[in-house]
Amino acid sequence: AVKEEFRQFEMEVGEIVEEMRSFTHEGSVATYIPELRHADPGTLGCALYTKNGTCVSFGDGEETFTLQSVSKVVALALAVMDSGEDQVFDKVGMEPTGGPFYSIARLALMNSSKPLNPMINAGALTVTSMIGGRTEAEKVERLLRFIRELTGNDALTYDSAVAASEFRTADYNRALAYLLKGEGVIDSDIGIEPLLDVYTKQCALSMSCCDLARIVFIFGHEGRSPETGEQIVPAPVARMVKTFMVTCGMYNESGELAIRAGIPAKSGVSGAILGSVPDGMGIGIYSPALNEKGNSRAGVELLKRLSRHFQLSIF
Ligand code: GLU
Repeated sequence: AVKEEFRQFEMEVGEIVEEMRSFTHEGSVATYIPELRHADPGTLGCALYTKNGTCVSFGDGEETFTLQSVSKVVALALAVMDSGEDQVFDKVGMEPTGGPFYSIARLALMNSSKPLNPMINAGALTVTSMIGGRTEAEKVERLLRFIRELTGNDALTYDSAVAASEFRTADYNRALAYLLKGEGVIDSDIGIEPLLDVYTKQCALSMSCCDLARIVFIFGHEGRSPETGEQIVPAPVARMVKTFMVTCGMYNESGELAIRAGIPAKSGVSGAILGSVPDGMGIGIYSPALNEKGNSRAGVELLKRLSRHFQLSIF
């Protein structure tokens, strides 16, 4: 009977995913990182990582894509594990901005000398500077080891074409990082070009919807490995990361999505979204056509629809 129920559930999700595909026509692919413009806007993939440790994928769920801002949740967990919560939040705030992720004035230094939160670029650059490792190569290694543990995918790496493309064109982030270093938020020992190298590789981590779904499954299960129960992320860190997903995970659409879906989620300009639901199922979505807020157009609709259909709101 359980099997039958699951098959029914799978069928319903599959139908919803195909229904949501029409929304892909209403968005457009990000182009400010030149390499991202090659994405096919009609793509919509979704994967669910379920309690019994299996992953089911739907639509174009097998496609690979880069994490972009979704990587900010991973980097935050790692920086807190490596440098400690006090150190990280001495430099980065905890409040949502209501503004777009790149704005220098609002994001970097409004009313305070520290970035408002770790999900905007100013905060994320600061967070990445606090990942453990003496050299940038060590920091990238550290990130890779962590993401491979989270996904259970030992072959996972970054897309070097996307990383290089962003590194070449990252003028905004470069400006932010230099400003933050000038303000003493980013440590004076940190070289900004090496930091951008780590940051762009972090954003270019490349994976499938199932990898994405497993990452968020772990955050939804107090940071434990689905197979061994081993603590990959300390439980309080997993909880904190999920809370940031609610308040700041979807750019300046976070408030609306909390109301309409109630699923802690984080999106990136590649069109990736991960979402965590109450019984701990992990949702990974990829659909590169974005809405005007920079979130995946069909991805947001899919989250809202899944939430309504299966009553997944945490509230
Ligand atoms: N790598 C991108 C940037 O820093 C990520 C932005 C995003 O996904 O919001 O501009």
